[in-house]
Amino acid sequence: MTQATPGVLAEVRRERERQDAKWGEQNLDPAVWLMILGEEVGEANNAALEHLMGNARDLSHYRTELLQVAAVAVSAVESLDRQQARLAASTNQ
Ligand SMILES: [Mg+2]
Repeated sequence: MTQATPGVLAEVRRERERQDAKWGEQNLDPAVWLMILGEEVGEANNAALEHLMGNARDLSHYRTELLQVAAVAVSAVESLDRQQARLAASTNQ
C-alpha cells in the first residue's frame, strides 16, 4: 500500500455504491461476471488507445474505466460470496 491507496479504494467504494444504486444487488453466474469485467477492461483499453493515438488529451477516461474494472471485480467477489453462503446454508438445513 502507498499513501494513495486509501483514496483510490474510497473511489472504488463510491463506484460500487453507484453500481448498486443503478443495478441493485446482482447475483450473476461467474461467466457473466467475467464478461462484464472484460467489457470494462475493453473500455479501459479503448481509453488508453485513444490517448496513445492523440484523440484524448488526458488519461481521465482511462482512470475512470480502471476504477470501474476494480468495482466490478469487487462486485463479482461479493456475488460469489453471497451465492456460496446461500449454498452452504441450504445444504446445512
Ligand atoms: Mg466502463
